[in-house]
Amino acid sequence: MPSSRSLAEHVEAAFAPEGRLARGLSQSPSPFSPRAGQQAMAQAVAQAIDDAATLVVEAGTGVGKTFAYLVPALLSGRKVVISTATKALQDQLFERDLPQLLHLLGLPLRAARLKGRSSYLCLHRLAHIHQGRTPHDPQVLRHIAQVQQWALATTTGDMAALPGLPEALLPLVTSTRSNCLGRDCALWDACHVNRARAQALQADVCVVNHHLFFADQQLQEEGVAPLLPQAGVVVVDEAHQLNDTGVQFAGITLGTRQLLGFARDAMAVTTEHARGLHPWLDYLVALEHTVQQWCATAAAVPLGVRQSWLGSSPQGVDAALWPQQLHTVGRSLRLIWQALGSVQEAAPALAQLQARAAELLHTLALFARPAPLDSVRWLDRHARHLVLTQAPLTVAPLLHAILQASSTPQAWVFTSATLGDSEDLQWFTRTCGLTDARTLRVASPFDYPAQARLYVPPDAPPVQAQAAHSAFVARLAQEGAQQLGGRTLVLTTTLKALEAIGSHLQQQFGQTGGLFAAIDVLVQGQGSKHALLERFRQGTVQGRGCVLVASATFWEGVDIAGDALQLLIIDKLPFAPPDDPLVQARSRQLEALGLSAFNDYLLPEAAMALKQGVGRLIRSETDRGMVAIADTRLLEKTYGPRLLAALPPMRLVTAQSAWQEQLRQLHPSPPSHLLPSTVTPAQAGVQ
Ligand code: SF4
Repeated sequence: MPSSRSLAEHVEAAFAPEGRLARGLSQSPSPFSPRAGQQAMAQAVAQAIDDAATLVVEAGTGVGKTFAYLVPALLSGRKVVISTATKALQDQLFERDLPQLLHLLGLPLRAARLKGRSSYLCLHRLAHIHQGRTPHDPQVLRHIAQVQQWALATTTGDMAALPGLPEALLPLVTSTRSNCLGRDCALWDACHVNRARAQALQADVCVVNHHLFFADQQLQEEGVAPLLPQAGVVVVDEAHQLNDTGVQFAGITLGTRQLLGFARDAMAVTTEHARGLHPWLDYLVALEHTVQQWCATAAAVPLGVRQSWLGSSPQGVDAALWPQQLHTVGRSLRLIWQALGSVQEAAPALAQLQARAAELLHTLALFARPAPLDSVRWLDRHARHLVLTQAPLTVAPLLHAILQASSTPQAWVFTSATLGDSEDLQWFTRTCGLTDARTLRVASPFDYPAQARLYVPPDAPPVQAQAAHSAFVARLAQEGAQQLGGRTLVLTTTLKALEAIGSHLQQQFGQTGGLFAAIDVLVQGQGSKHALLERFRQGTVQGRGCVLVASATFWEGVDIAGDALQLLIIDKLPFAPPDDPLVQARSRQLEALGLSAFNDYLLPEAAMALKQGVGRLIRSETDRGMVAIADTRLLEKTYGPRLLAALPPMRLVTAQSAWQEQLRQLHPSPPSHLLPSTVTPAQAGVQ
């Protein structure tokens, strides 16, 4: 960048009507057109870079925030690190946006993508995979042979190149922080994890994910230079997920699988390096046995819910037996730790194993003590294993340490399409401890009053009447999908509602030739997320429309532009489950500070989630559609207006005739092969 022009001037020139972006994209299927909001954001980012300041930007859908932060960051001449919430966005940035922009701006910068260590092949673990008690299943052995073959050719060791490997195999051929030998590894120089990190350090621009963002600080302990302190500009995209990822990262977990994995690795290592020196098999079988007994004490805990843990044991678990079993596991593990201590000088792998045993003992001891006041603890019971978690209530202290780690000036940009329901973006800045940051809100350029309607059916049953409510939502979705020939996405707040609505619709539009056989009903869980979205995006295929019923991860990050999606139905307001231990602990903490758990936490959280969900509908200037939220609390409760105000400015309609009229406008004539007018929903089986 020539020094005679400021960064702001370079940015202005790039985004100008005749600038590099407009010229370079003039022949592209989506030509560049200058947008005031995008330019305002780009200038704010440029200013933050000049001032080495912290900036928080909420950029509504369609602003073009990726270019708005990439252009000034790349033109700044400083080392840039970009963090995204998901691997999908990480890949999109690295494979599409970044190379495109570097080309358009004529910048010969080195770019790198860094993933977590579990994404890379561990050469050491692969070399030792047939030692100890490794799988004998012929299919797994075939996959191991496949990995060994691929290992000879790969230059990156990125396991994404081998999709379809059984999940159980991945921990055997990748490393964790605790089982990596570090500098003692004979394969250190050839190690794919180390090579990827070295490339990231040398690159001018590096794309990471939020988990790595938080893990960066720990690299120093592993004898590796961290990445973030060397960056001049750090951009955190999808920043609304930063707190959750950080809390997860800073949380301490202990899984019974971790203990059993340790036993499995210990068998391999002691067989190779310390055979016959101790009765290893007896020790390790005893450890496995005590772990299984410990799991059995939690048999009454329901599957798939975070079980609150306020006292000495999780709720619903025998308060005397639980600590006793925990102690027994500790005794078994200690015996192995001591035995390893007497042989650990024989090989680095034994010393590493002993250190791992010590770490596990330390974590067990932590869970044997009461939880600290500023944290929350819970138990997750899965079909065959337990996971114990202790998490901090906020990511603020961790984030503060990361922001202060560099000795040179840095600019920090945090951005997302949804960061709050107030002008000062407090929902984000307060939870992340960034209340001193500059803030900017850039509205979406879409014409929501013209492009979308919001329908709240006043006759929806109360949400507490779950079965009747789900049947109502299913009926609404059926009516909409019939009129539109599919093009309907139903987002639910619970898996129970997902199943009820999904199965109602599948019965009605039966895939095996029912009355309404021209619509495919896709239900989350009945195919990969990628496959479901691919089919939904195709819209009508060979005369068959498409409805998708989904929950959880489909509420955000799903981008379906065009008329494949015209109707979005949300079953209920997405309030956090009040019995979740983390929600309860945060509520208690706020109330202790004199704040209202509902107004200052639960309501803004629900507003953010609702805004994310609604954001799936309109993805381009030409999209048209309708959102239906089947929750009358929006109309009846005093907090309704606050939630409505958080949404894009769509026109609200509540009359059934207006809903039907809107459906007709979206799709003037329903496909003739759909529901005959003489068949009512009740006749068709939807109650
Ligand atoms: S350094 Fe660690 S990750 Fe790399 S090959 Fe060795 S054990 Fe595996």
